[in-house]
Amino acid sequence: MTTPELSADPSDLISFDSLLTPEELELRGTVREFVNAQIKPNIAKWFEAAEFPLEIVPEMAKLGLLGMHLKGYGCAGRSAVEYGLAGAELEAGDSGLRTFVSVQGSLAMSAIYKWGSEEQKQEWLPQMAAGEAIGCFGLTEPTAGSDPSSMTTNAKRDGDDWVLNGTKRWIGLANVAKVAVIWAQTDDGIRGFVVPTDTAGYKATPIEPKLSMRASIQCEIELMDVRLPASAMLPEAKGLRGPFSCLNEARYGIIWGAMGAARDSFEAALDYSKQRMQFDKPLAGYQLTQQKLVDMALEINKGFLLALQIGRMKTPVRCRTTRSRWASSTTAARPSRSPARLAPSWAATASRWTTRRCAMPTTSNPCAPTRAPTRFTP
Ligand SMILES: Cc1cc2nc3c(=O)[nH]c(=O)nc-3n(C[C@H](O)[C@H](O)[C@H](O)COP(=O)(O)OP(=O)(O)OC[C@H]3O[C@@H](n4cnc5c(N)ncnc54)[C@H](O)[C@@H]3O)c2cc1C
Repeated sequence: MTTPELSADPSDLISFDSLLTPEELELRGTVREFVNAQIKPNIAKWFEAAEFPLEIVPEMAKLGLLGMHLKGYGCAGRSAVEYGLAGAELEAGDSGLRTFVSVQGSLAMSAIYKWGSEEQKQEWLPQMAAGEAIGCFGLTEPTAGSDPSSMTTNAKRDGDDWVLNGTKRWIGLANVAKVAVIWAQTDDGIRGFVVPTDTAGYKATPIEPKLSMRASIQCEIELMDVRLPASAMLPEAKGLRGPFSCLNEARYGIIWGAMGAARDSFEAALDYSKQRMQFDKPLAGYQLTQQKLVDMALEINKGFLLALQIGRMKTPVRCRTTRSRWASSTTAARPSRSPARLAPSWAATASRWTTRRCAMPTTSNPCAPTRAPTRFTP
């Protein structure tokens, strides 16, 4: 076994790259270039204007980032680790733009891919992978957030049709989406519906103003007698397992995304502390500052290792052959204990911790425009 070389990257204390395959490194490099060229130069402008840049959707589709972990239907069929690496790079550019990829791929496309009929998959997934159709995922309601089982949106039979009524809140991309996956109470429990957003009675209004995640869209959706054919229901999703399985996909991406944001915050803090002179020395020359930077780097390295391990565990063959204590204590009957369910909160804590270090006024803070305090979202 060869000894991994020390990395020249100050945020990489453990030769993290030596744990990645050449394909993973190549994909990460491609996304990093895209973020450096297309997102970083523009993000302050988009953030200030509270604007989601729709024009970069085709670019992301060209890179195969939309539904990238899904196979077939025009999707890239990338591994869980590749998907995570891409999420980390995107969120190093901006949390709101990583959120776009999560809502499109992990929530809306995953719902159709996991639980949809073959017709629904054929109709929607190729155009969503190509960036020609944006999707959204409507689970949360004004009075049903952490507890989606208390949702009041309902779908009632009228002949062969379904008629949906209710309100959804905080729904990413709902006003630019061509298709919405809406979860609703039925006589048969909670079921999912594929709703083309040009259906009469569907109305999405952006929630404004927002303090954070400003370069992304979240909406309130009103559903007023939205009439759908019988074929609009996702046939395989029964109960909360349907939406929760998609949330777990999104949470997995958030683990990586939070670490990308943390890394970018660290790099900004390091650069600034090397340039800013006080008492004739750069701030980075003082031990108190060095201690803070080292603590940040340490937590970031731990977070990336955790993200990678969970990504490897998500690879089906590995899960079957080398079941760790984690995996064997995690059963379908206890979905809330899956690693992807728990890890984002740890990663978000590390990221928020890094963010707080950078919470200086905008004028003096090199990372202020892109670092938002809330990181628990899809
Ligand atoms: C930027 C953004 C994007 C979003 N995008 C989407 C989307 O695309 N689709 C969608 O369906 N939803 C979306 N959401 C909604 C998100 O899923 C909800 O915000 C989340 O489920 C929490 O619900 P809530 O905001 O109503 O908070 P609440 O459920 O009211 O919780 C408030 C606080 O109480 C705590 N709390 C709640 N229950 C407990 C408990 N049992 N024990 C201890 N503490 C508890 C929570 O942790 C939280 O800190 C988005 C939200 C945001 C902010």
